[in-house]
Amino acid sequence: MIKFLDLHKINARFENDFQNKFKHFMDSGHYILGSEVERFETDFATYCGTEYCIGTANGLDALTLIFKGYIHLGKLRPKDEVLVPANTYIASILSIINAGLQPVLVEPDLETYNISPEEIEKHITKNTKALLVVHLYGQLANMNAINAIAASHRLLVIEDAAQAHGAVENSNLKIPNPKLKKAGNLGHAAAFSFYPSKNLGALGDAGAVTTNDKDLAETLKLMRNYGSSKKYVNEIIGVNSRLDELQAAFLNIKLKCLDADNAKRQSIAKRYLQEISNDKIALPFYSGAKDHVFHVFTIRVADRSGFVAYLQSHDIGHLIHYPIAPHHQKALENFRHHTFPLTEKIHDTIISIPISPVMTEDEVYRVVEILNVY
Ligand SMILES: *Cc1c(COP(=O)(O)O)cnc(C)c1O
Repeated sequence: MIKFLDLHKINARFENDFQNKFKHFMDSGHYILGSEVERFETDFATYCGTEYCIGTANGLDALTLIFKGYIHLGKLRPKDEVLVPANTYIASILSIINAGLQPVLVEPDLETYNISPEEIEKHITKNTKALLVVHLYGQLANMNAINAIAASHRLLVIEDAAQAHGAVENSNLKIPNPKLKKAGNLGHAAAFSFYPSKNLGALGDAGAVTTNDKDLAETLKLMRNYGSSKKYVNEIIGVNSRLDELQAAFLNIKLKCLDADNAKRQSIAKRYLQEISNDKIALPFYSGAKDHVFHVFTIRVADRSGFVAYLQSHDIGHLIHYPIAPHHQKALENFRHHTFPLTEKIHDTIISIPISPVMTEDEVYRVVEILNVY
């Protein structure tokens, strides 16, 4: 059996360090917003190349807080329109709705599955005030084009970087740019999730916002903690969405391994792309650079249910990202009357095969072999 993702094996690599950290944490008697959260915020901001990082309870809260923060600062107003890819994970869309803004779904590009800059331009109205760009499956969206459009229409650019920790922009340029930028530093603000299965995953829920915007950072630092920086003094309307101290301790240990883990994912992806050869399987686009960290490796097949049965009969783990398009979800009934042909095509044919930093060469070989015989 080749698991889709062996989370125990991923974390077992750090077990001793985790246990030492837990003992230290337990003995400290300080369990909320302590030195581990502070260290993670400093180190993750440095890692992303941003001025600020604010830890949150999860990725959805990180996204929602960015929007609420901009509303608080007067840069967004209730009901403003935010463009978002139609084929994203539903969290992106929920964050816009939960902040009291209006999501406008935009079709992706069928090659990269990321939001299409041409489609963005078609959907900009006088009510459009922000773009929520998702680096889906770990591949950076076309930020050069997107930031140019945003600048000419004075739009905020928010990254949903929940699947793209450590992805580096423009790393394939012939002339190397000394100031390579990473996910989290490619717009005005970015949200990360450290849900256990993400490229940088905690052992529970965790998230963060990165930004170079001082006002936003200061607002979110208050907002995630009851609007308070001093106990029992509340300056703004806040929520409770603090990054958990113990999860921050785990993340501090795992952050050191993120680049190596992403490199391993990229090397497996390269093998898949070179070695899988089957007319019935459409492989993903990959430039070969560091702008894709392969949160998942997605392929497309016409007869997906037949393919799933085939994988099951050969004990190959798999998952569908995602089986139901957001506009077909009951929760988003208001969007039912829209049609998004590319999004629907993706949702009907996409399927993800195993990829992880702890997969062995033999396992990769086995997946290739099974797929080539399909
Ligand atoms: C995981 C994920 C989120 C939400 O993160 P949580 O920590 O589960 O709240 C948001 N957007 C995308 C694209 C994700 O993959």
